[in-house]
Amino acid sequence: MKEANKIIELIQNAKNIIITSHKSPDGDSIGSSLGLYRFIQILGKSSEICHPDPCPNFIEWAKEDAVIVDFEENESAVTDKMQAADLIFCLDYNGANRLGKAMGEVLTSCKAIKVMIDHHLNPDDFVDLSVSEPLVCSTAQLIYELVDASGNLHLMNARIGAPIYLGIMTDTGSFRFSSVTARTHEIIAGLINAGVDHTAVHQDTFDNNRLDKLKLRGHIISERLEILTEYKVAIISVTEHIMESFNYIKGDTEGLVNLALSIEGVEVAAFFTEKGNDVKMSFRSKGELAVNVIANENFDGGGHKYAAGGINHDTIENTIAKFKLLLPKYF
Ligand code: 5GP
Ligand code: MN
Repeated sequence: MKEANKIIELIQNAKNIIITSHKSPDGDSIGSSLGLYRFIQILGKSSEICHPDPCPNFIEWAKEDAVIVDFEENESAVTDKMQAADLIFCLDYNGANRLGKAMGEVLTSCKAIKVMIDHHLNPDDFVDLSVSEPLVCSTAQLIYELVDASGNLHLMNARIGAPIYLGIMTDTGSFRFSSVTARTHEIIAGLINAGVDHTAVHQDTFDNNRLDKLKLRGHIISERLEILTEYKVAIISVTEHIMESFNYIKGDTEGLVNLALSIEGVEVAAFFTEKGNDVKMSFRSKGELAVNVIANENFDGGGHKYAAGGINHDTIENTIAKFKLLLPKYF
């Protein structure tokens, strides 16, 4: 990472450092934020993590004593912090709009030097220094590269390393996606050598399911799955009413779209989630179809070839119908 020394210099010279990441946090946004936060700490500086919305339950464990202030519940505090900041990190997102409208506007208008570290395609021009590596599996891996390339690998330890491991693990489907390289495994070896308890990371993340969560997932697969054999497409969906009846909390349907994709013969999976007057979509592909193209051209979204998402301002029934009508065009 050729920008590493410049980034360290910016950290050393900053008085108020804020770490931001995208809306609807996942293992990589939380993991890269915490990894950078603790790396900054070990450099003798401090920072604050400000995210658009709260950390999902299944990765809460990674925070330990760290505080993540979220804009959804502390809008004025986060706005003040960002306006007072002289350095803001933008981790795991490629445009100010990924913070949501209001927080995105605060980012755009504040005076801080902005540094993006990200692995999504086609970044917007919204920062002063951009580290954009779309071939790298996760932003967490880029935080490790920052530590390494700045000559600070001797400082790597379990506290910095566990969230980095978490980010790599969750963004690679536990090291299975094609984005994983030999370098990823070298980094994992480096993390384990630095004391990361990898078994604990897997267990803390995946073996802590609430029964309601498993029942909701079972319900969606048994009652809300449709397979369009002709197109090799699986569609799953969930309404707010169903989520409420299973005491839904954020993160309960995380990764469920991958289960639909795992069905024999299925090449594209789409998951539709009702959210107020909108529908949030998650797309996954294991075939030729680039789902980010469908998301981008029709659902105000984007992402990668194999994993993308978007949003539609309509009912869930109409949104699913719209998606089905598009299939002949893309297949
Ligand atoms: P997920 O399905 O896990 O929510 O998202 C998968 C990927 O799709 C994300 O890593 C992100 O790149 C992309 N993505 C999801 N939702 C959106 C969205 O609303 N807009 C854009 N541009 N990308 C999205
Ligand atoms: Mn990521």
